[in-house]
Amino acid sequence: MEKTNNVIIESNVNHNKSGDILIESAEIVAVGTELLIGQTLNTNTYYLANQLTLLGINSYYQSVVGDNPERLLGMLQTALTRADLVITSGGLGPTADDVTMELIAKAAGKELVLDPVSKQSIIDYFTGIGRTVSDNNWKQAMMPQGAITMPNNNGTAPGAILVFDYDGKKKAIACLPGPPGELKLMFEQSLKPWLEQRVNYEFEHRFLHMIGIGESNAELEIRDLIERQTNPTIAPYASPGEVCFRITQRKLRGRAEADLISPVVAEIKNRLGQYIYEDGTRTLPEIVFALLKEKNQTISFAESCTAGMVSAEFGSIAGISEVFAGSVISYSNNVKEQILGVPSAILQQYGAVSKECAKSMASGVRKSLNTDLAISVTGIAGPDGGTQEKPVGTVYIGADYKGQLTFEKHMIRGNREKIRAVASLRAFHLAWRCLKEKSDN
Ligand code: ATP
Repeated sequence: MEKTNNVIIESNVNHNKSGDILIESAEIVAVGTELLIGQTLNTNTYYLANQLTLLGINSYYQSVVGDNPERLLGMLQTALTRADLVITSGGLGPTADDVTMELIAKAAGKELVLDPVSKQSIIDYFTGIGRTVSDNNWKQAMMPQGAITMPNNNGTAPGAILVFDYDGKKKAIACLPGPPGELKLMFEQSLKPWLEQRVNYEFEHRFLHMIGIGESNAELEIRDLIERQTNPTIAPYASPGEVCFRITQRKLRGRAEADLISPVVAEIKNRLGQYIYEDGTRTLPEIVFALLKEKNQTISFAESCTAGMVSAEFGSIAGISEVFAGSVISYSNNVKEQILGVPSAILQQYGAVSKECAKSMASGVRKSLNTDLAISVTGIAGPDGGTQEKPVGTVYIGADYKGQLTFEKHMIRGNREKIRAVASLRAFHLAWRCLKEKSDN
């Protein structure tokens, strides 16, 4: 066996040689009783399904099965009749109920044999954490004969890829560990590169992110483009408060082909340009960060109904201290008055959820933290506190950019969680607009 870039490749398996496989379809089988009873959210299937789509591999079925040998074997056999590749997640642990590897060997008609490389990596893992290997851990080094082993660089259970003849056809099973951190790393480092060598097509994607327009209206604007799409395809995604279009061109692997994406992107920008904040994969907070850095300017926030969500999101970006001075969580009127200097007359006359208060909160935090830009959020997240005049979901975002005051009013529909999430997004959107649109004097 040869080891390259963390991928262990068995020397007798080579792309395009007899014995290898072309992967056009795959089926994900998530193993674990905890998934069936709703104890664990099946994020592995979600992650893997997305990855298969990006690789251009068709996926027609997904399943979840408990740690029951009979049902798992039946599931594997069914999946093998429907797909070129079956990917399993979970059940690779050292305990008696971890039966995935054994049943994969059974489904493929192979023996389990001790894999010396996996055995060594288990020894290395336990030595690394200062513990001795317990007897049942050797079970994790047992692999179906002829399998390609995938190292686990985040845990102990190695994964495996097995290519074999099944009912006269070439089939493959890839098994990955259950813990999401281990599964993702193994997929990225080992399974993905292996798959990329075995698909006919490659896919190029471009993402257009927009805000300020709903999914159905955005789709309506480009319906003719969507209806006549073949290559590239246009796929809309909506998440709370924003819409994204993914434009995908399918190319024959390894061939230089014309760029079909750019003309479609240009046409979408032509029609929806005013809403588009990113042609790429950066998030709105990341874009605000980049703009502030580019201008060598600073920002602060005053948060009422979001109570720190905006700041926490901004704070998760590496290197943010260059531009982020700090925030005031001004939930109560008292803090709005005492710390931000919102005049009590504003609070009495217009209330805390008002454009006057939003503007005053922004200018108060900008002055006390001495930043170029300040953004404020004040609103009614519910479920209580709404009135006929100001129903739940009423949110004001204020901005003070070098003394220039602006505000936006939003009526956000949804539960408390959604209202606060969309309000945070809107806060970044106003920051972005200020930094893009306003002059720098
Ligand atoms: P281990 O060596 O840790 O036992 P394993 O491959 O046997 O790994 P499982 O025992 O099946 O994995 O699952 C370990 C944990 O991983 C589960 O308790 C659960 O928290 C998580 N997990 C398993 N499957 C999934 C899944 N499909 N989606 C999200 N998390 C999962």
